Amino acid sequence: MRLLIMGPPGVGKGTQAVGIAAHYGIPAISTGDIFRANVKDRTPLGVEVSRIMAAGGYVPDEITNAIVADRLTHDDAADGWLLDGYPRTEGQVLALDKVLERTGRHIDAVISLVADTDVLVERLLKRAELEGREDDNAETIRARMVIYTEATDPLLATYRDRDLLVEVDGIGSIEEVSGRITSALDAKLG
Ligand code: AMP
Repeated sequence: MRLLIMGPPGVGKGTQAVGIAAHYGIPAISTGDIFRANVKDRTPLGVEVSRIMAAGGYVPDEITNAIVADRLTHDDAADGWLLDGYPRTEGQVLALDKVLERTGRHIDAVISLVADTDVLVERLLKRAELEGREDDNAETIRARMVIYTEATDPLLATYRDRDLLVEVDGIGSIEEVSGRITSALDAKLG
């Protein structure tokens, strides 16, 4: 099973990715988690991307594509994976297509978590107040939403055209949303 999960910042992609991946016995691979771990450990990659991340921008495709291509060669990814937060740009879609073509694999479905961006901005602003995450101040939150709308949201149409998109209402409890995702995938994949 090879899946993508996409959706605007704050919709709960990461949480759902972990649950869905466990459900299907595949690894959840989050580019955001990989970058955050590198920032925390102050690796050369972490040093390079920390400012971009703190500002809510996207890490350049060249770097991101190389990291994902490498991660997908690990043993635990041989029989499937769920990519969380990748691809986010057209260049990343093409790079992933190439990796898949080279390895003779295909994506089974793309989960799209849907929510009103105004509601999500409100939610993120509240969380920022409570937790003080570095990439969660008002300015960064808006920057993340703008780049999502401009660079990433249009990619959903690409996967819809390929008949891979599974749209799920992202507003609700963790259990409600994960239930919707698994039933939508069951309906799609049989
Ligand atoms: P996330 O946890 O998925 O929201 O990712 C956190 C941050 O990591 C993003 O705001 C970006 O700065 C960076 N990032 C994660 N995934 C990507 C990606 N596919 N392309 C570019 N930047 C990314």
